[in-house]
Amino acid sequence: MIKKFTYFIILCLLLLAGLMLWNMKSFKSKQIDIPIATSSNINNKDAISHLSEAIKYKTISNYDNNQIDAITFLSFHKFLRRTYPLIFKELSERIFSSYSVLLKWEGSKESSKNPILLMAHMDVVPALEIENWIEDPFSGLVKNDFIWGRGALDDKSSLIAILESIEYLLSTGFKPNRDIYISIGHDEENSGLNGNAVIAETLKREGVYFDMVLDEGSIITNNILKGVNRPVAMVGIAEKGYLTIELTSSSNSGHSSMPSNSTAIGKLSKAINNLEKFQMKPKITPALEHFFSYIGPELDQKNQFIISNMTLLSSSIINELVKDPVTASMVRTTIAPTMINAGVKPNILPSEAKAVINFRILQGDNIKKIKEHINKIVNDKDIEVEILASEEHSNPSRLSNVNSPSFNIIHKTIKELYHDVFVAPGLVVATTDSRYYESISKDIYRFVPLILNSEELSMIHGYNEKISISTYLDMIQFYIQLIKNFHVS
Ligand SMILES: [Zn+2]
Repeated sequence: MIKKFTYFIILCLLLLAGLMLWNMKSFKSKQIDIPIATSSNINNKDAISHLSEAIKYKTISNYDNNQIDAITFLSFHKFLRRTYPLIFKELSERIFSSYSVLLKWEGSKESSKNPILLMAHMDVVPALEIENWIEDPFSGLVKNDFIWGRGALDDKSSLIAILESIEYLLSTGFKPNRDIYISIGHDEENSGLNGNAVIAETLKREGVYFDMVLDEGSIITNNILKGVNRPVAMVGIAEKGYLTIELTSSSNSGHSSMPSNSTAIGKLSKAINNLEKFQMKPKITPALEHFFSYIGPELDQKNQFIISNMTLLSSSIINELVKDPVTASMVRTTIAPTMINAGVKPNILPSEAKAVINFRILQGDNIKKIKEHINKIVNDKDIEVEILASEEHSNPSRLSNVNSPSFNIIHKTIKELYHDVFVAPGLVVATTDSRYYESISKDIYRFVPLILNSEELSMIHGYNEKISISTYLDMIQFYIQLIKNFHVS
């Protein structure tokens, strides 16, 4: 009997090993192999000076929307009109909430294709702690093959590259075979509520429906993914949701010489500690599965074997991914205590302590589930859990199609410009303004062709933001090629 059982176990193991090897064998590369496109003849010198000038405008999004510097934003509009005369002559322009711009490039009438939308934002985050900057963040300085300043990466390079590409195409007499919209938000760094939220709402009322929206959110990363020996162009097919919670803990105030055993600060600390300790369950979402199905076949044999058997090995893959904050953010709803406030004097017990906690919600979780989770973990009648009203909240986005013609065109265009990169769909862990278009677009993709390593990534919203001139010039070529490729699709 025991012998029979042993044979049975051996047989099962052999079958499993066979299945796993079969999975690995059938794991085929999804990379499109296509020749490099010939470059369009743009005026590089002008293009560089246009981005440099764009950076000089301090189009800063402050936390308080009412603090907007109207003159700067309107001067920036003037700069765009002056710099791109063909665009502002041929395309129709609409302004939303005084500062956001929507351009519409009308395609040839005979085409019945849905329009597409290209997005970029004109606002930037403030440049704080100027002493840490090597160059003035609003100088737009062109030095040593770089263009310096706030917005050089996020997101004026993309904005200016899109406009450069269209101005160039117009100068050649090009007319797209479908309508192309360009939205230039003014408050992306501050929720996008007055900009793209309003534009999307208006277009929805007007019955506009896009085949594709392309926004920022993901880039070409270099030397970031372990075991991948080429840069990876990740095209965001989904983004996480956003939620900010405020915890308020109350207790009796009084003199610090006679404290009770449960003070407001003590209880709040315990609650935060527990929330960090007992997080929501990590999981492999469809966006990550797609990412692995594109990257997996390009890895070495050992990793190929693991990734091709993702379903069988999911728990060990997840255990590996949660070890690092970057990869952990792809498999779980993250919790980040960001603000804490209590007490006014060293010898007085405060009656109240407050903490603000920011959550980035993974697909499969939602705002309701998180609130339930927090209540279960905190479980203290003296602690109130409330959604922070001053913040914008969103559930995770839906998943865009990786087999759509639009995704194919983006993939193809990336390969035509950057031959030796791997293209992969993936999850964007931040939020973008593209979320407002979810109900009026077949698919939403988040990708800007910036090539950055992890050190350079920290310049986004950080110090010494700058873009290499060659990266920027390639961006212009990318958008030209993208528009051309949509035209022939
Ligand atoms: Zn941005």
